Amino acid sequence: MMLCYKSTRNSELRVSSSQAILKGLSSDGGLFVPEKLPVLEVSMDALKGMTYQETAYAVMKQFLTDFTEEELKACINKAYDEKFDTEDIAPLAKVGGTYFLELFHGATIAFKDMALSILPHLMITAAKKNHVENEIVILTATSGDTGKAALAGFADVEGTRIIVFYPKNGVSRVQELQMTTQKGSNVDVVAIHGNFDDAQSKVKAIFEDQELAKELKEKGYQFSSANSINIGRLVPQVAYYVYAYGKLLANDEIGDGEEVNVVVPTGNFGNILAAYYAKQMGVPIGKLICASNENKVLFDFFETGTYDRNREFVLTSSPSMDILVSSNLERLIYLITGEDSDKTKELMAGLKGKGSYSITNEMAEKLKDFHAGYATEEDTTDCIRRIYQETGYVIDTHTSVAAYVCEQYRGKSGDSRKCLVASTASPYKFAKSVMMAIDGKYEASDDLELLDELHRVSGVDMPQAIQDILDAKVIHTLECDTDKMQETVKALLKH
Ligand SMILES: *Cc1c(COP(=O)(O)O)cnc(C)c1O
Repeated sequence: MMLCYKSTRNSELRVSSSQAILKGLSSDGGLFVPEKLPVLEVSMDALKGMTYQETAYAVMKQFLTDFTEEELKACINKAYDEKFDTEDIAPLAKVGGTYFLELFHGATIAFKDMALSILPHLMITAAKKNHVENEIVILTATSGDTGKAALAGFADVEGTRIIVFYPKNGVSRVQELQMTTQKGSNVDVVAIHGNFDDAQSKVKAIFEDQELAKELKEKGYQFSSANSINIGRLVPQVAYYVYAYGKLLANDEIGDGEEVNVVVPTGNFGNILAAYYAKQMGVPIGKLICASNENKVLFDFFETGTYDRNREFVLTSSPSMDILVSSNLERLIYLITGEDSDKTKELMAGLKGKGSYSITNEMAEKLKDFHAGYATEEDTTDCIRRIYQETGYVIDTHTSVAAYVCEQYRGKSGDSRKCLVASTASPYKFAKSVMMAIDGKYEASDDLELLDELHRVSGVDMPQAIQDILDAKVIHTLECDTDKMQETVKALLKH
């Protein structure tokens, strides 16, 4: 059966899954959502014995119905291969009664690899199906993790080019080296003299420039986005929640049908929405616990029913969650309006105009599956240290935000269901913050100096991604002013 996608801002519009992946965002500014959330066809019993790739296929085929079995399996096999340092792809670690779902075993050691290693393959397959002849140019502005994961995913993928812009002084040393040493004949990395917001808004403007689009089309190019609003990123993320549940069953950690709570460190609301989709598909998930850092706009939303971005932006030690507009929340809003695209459009206009909107009581009633909490910088640091001292397990700052909120929820709610924490980055990626949390004596050292020390303390081997940047040559040194970004894109596309 064919599953179509409609826009959250126009329920009349219908596109196929491959068209939704190619377009990224609907032209009315809305996000693509499945017409109906599918019910998982594979039985829990069968799930127990399935590999990650098999589980991914079982989930994705129900969402991406205009891809053939052969196409989808080819995409999955190209994505989830030796780039991951474990055959499990997303292994579970049981630490002090909590299950950490480690989503950082891919090429760039953060959870964005789970989706960005498959998106390029989905996109070129979608391009072929829709007879797109142009080369697809991915333009991305990054605050660190997305850029590298997208570069690694798209590098040397035929029929694509990728250009990543990052703020020259706005990313960690490890993150910068990860990007500037990226190999591949179709990749370009540009440091801009400005902050992430400047880069982001300029990229959006380039996307919206119809004249430029026309000019590039004549040269055989068209733009697309690897941003987390692309349905081609959301769907692959549903798979690891289904997989994790199967593993808990297979390992006799839970009984048949037993509910588990899922805790997710949240920024753009993509990862937790994938868990919600898994629940809607029939996976026995109890509460969806949304964990924020000090940019706690989502916590306030779930508490009060008002989403308000008018506040100070805080730079925290979990930078990938430093975000005030959580784009994927729009998909949940659409569901709780009863799939009312006019109402959704009105609320989103409020967000764009005055920076806030409020939901009705009736809508709030439909959010009962969610619980929200947040961790301050001190809570985050304390939690890393405490878990390390009690168990020897070292977690990164983002995961710590979730681990803290998980503990807090357990203590307050009396809910004794088991908890699955989404572990979104390797501690190696944020070595300095992690080591500082464990012991203040590391204050004077930088990220790179602390890698060996982290190895000693955690007993975890240094990931290949880190070894690679230590040996690699810096390839990309291009810099530009923010107002020269468009010219830079044109110049890069000349050759
Ligand atoms: C992107 C990111 C997050 C936030 O995920 P969302 O899907 O945007 O909510 C959390 N942790 C890490 C390490 C990330 O890179």
